[in-house]
Amino acid sequence: MLAADFACLGEEIRAVTEAGADYIHLDVMDGHFVPNLSFGPDVIKAMRPHTKLPFDVHLMIGPVDPYIGDFVAAGADIITVHPEAGAHVHGTLQQIRKAGKKAGIALNPGTPVEALDNVLDLLDLVLVMTVNPGFGGQAFIDSQLAKISTTRERIEKRGLEIDLSVDGGIKPETARRAIDAGANVLVAGTAVFRGEEDSYAKNIARLRRP
Ligand code: ZN
Repeated sequence: MLAADFACLGEEIRAVTEAGADYIHLDVMDGHFVPNLSFGPDVIKAMRPHTKLPFDVHLMIGPVDPYIGDFVAAGADIITVHPEAGAHVHGTLQQIRKAGKKAGIALNPGTPVEALDNVLDLLDLVLVMTVNPGFGGQAFIDSQLAKISTTRERIEKRGLEIDLSVDGGIKPETARRAIDAGANVLVAGTAVFRGEEDSYAKNIARLRRP
């Protein structure tokens, strides 16, 4: 939603829902863990009645633990955290699962895939960042394709049902490469919210079949 028109978020959510989106991805930034501010739980709560799609909440905030409850209450279905955003990521994931929500880990371009090794059994989602977090509209970092493949291998080897999502610089060309590397969920902002509302369905279709 970072690329949506913030002056009419409800309308934008209804438009992407009708356009065929599978999830609503919400980037929460605190101006501390990442160098930008976006929105918090109150805005997410206000968006919640406008769609039945799952809210995929990506927390780029640190410390993260004190706020998990607020995002659960706001209507998050999946909560994704960065391992660098708290001292005990295993405990953070337990806290999310205990609240009955799906848990995810986001790997920054500089974060090694080994960060997943001891928490894979607590995950519903791995989010590979193909830009440094903090801003929408950045260019895809090619070196992360190898991390997508390695993550896919680790998931398959353990026989786990974990979604592998890619976030940052996704447009039709990079969508194809991310899917080929093993991704099954694509996060896109700028590539979806381009043109008028009646373009969104076409924009999403292009990402689905790049
Ligand atoms: Zn995100």
